Amino acid sequence: RPGLMAGKRGLIMGLANDKSIAWGIAKALAAEGAELAFSYQGDALKKRVDPLAAQLGSDTVLPCDVSNEASIDTLFADLGAKWDGLDFVVHAIGFSDKDQLRGRYAETTRENFLMTMDISVYSFTAVARRAAAMMKDGGSMLTLTYYGAERVMPHYNVMGVAKAALEASVRYLAEDFGKDNIRVNAISAGPIKTLAASGIGDFRYIMKWNELNSPLRRNVTQEDVGNSALYLLSRLGAGVTGETHHVDAGYHVVGMKAVDAPDI
Ligand code: NAD
Repeated sequence: RPGLMAGKRGLIMGLANDKSIAWGIAKALAAEGAELAFSYQGDALKKRVDPLAAQLGSDTVLPCDVSNEASIDTLFADLGAKWDGLDFVVHAIGFSDKDQLRGRYAETTRENFLMTMDISVYSFTAVARRAAAMMKDGGSMLTLTYYGAERVMPHYNVMGVAKAALEASVRYLAEDFGKDNIRVNAISAGPIKTLAASGIGDFRYIMKWNELNSPLRRNVTQEDVGNSALYLLSRLGAGVTGETHHVDAGYHVVGMKAVDAPDI
């Protein structure tokens, strides 16, 4: 059978290495026949991203620092020169000063607050506007968020505040672009060991807690997130927009876990 994504073209932003959530999503899309382009930040990452893109049959690997408007313009100009349209975009990008991803939120500096909001929130809006202009037959956009947007999680701090704003922007963008049959959604992923996650204080403890306390009693994988992304980015998700979809082994529904041993 032809793949679910046959004939679909999409841009994946935020691939750093084979542990990245973007890699799980890219693999799931490519396995269903999607044609992919990748953007990376900084020369140091290019040598990592090139071979990964090649593994999925892509030689479109373009630089983009999302904190720079001109860099985003260049990315979309380069992409537009290669492709006459775009069907989907994945934004798997976030950043904050790791010294402030531990301890108290109250200590967040103005400078880091603004930088975190710029790179982790505004960048999705900046990308969405340009991507929508290329989506002539409708499309689907996806960003990545975390439960720290909804509830206080240890050490997540300013990133939790940023993710709350990101989830709100998903809803506003869904309304803006819905008339053009462009859907905008977020996946709220459970903790996964990646480069970005390793900057968060006590991350191993957070993973263990999630594993022991989520309804599925496990952590989610890159593949879990990839397959849910495939649903949201393909025609299977045609009726879904403005949604924050939890792929977290159910952790977000738990108020208090039942004691597994009956006699305690
Ligand atoms: P990762 O380190 O593999 O990916 C983060 C990416 O952001 C990197 O590719 C990095 O180059 C990119 N980036 C940072 N600043 C940038 C800039 N100025 N311009 C362009 N790119 C920039 O880590 P990941 O965990 O795969 O993160 C992807 C997304 O998933 C992030 O939004 C993260 O907050 C989110 N997320 C992660 C987890 C987790 O536990 N790992 C859980 C929920 C949500």
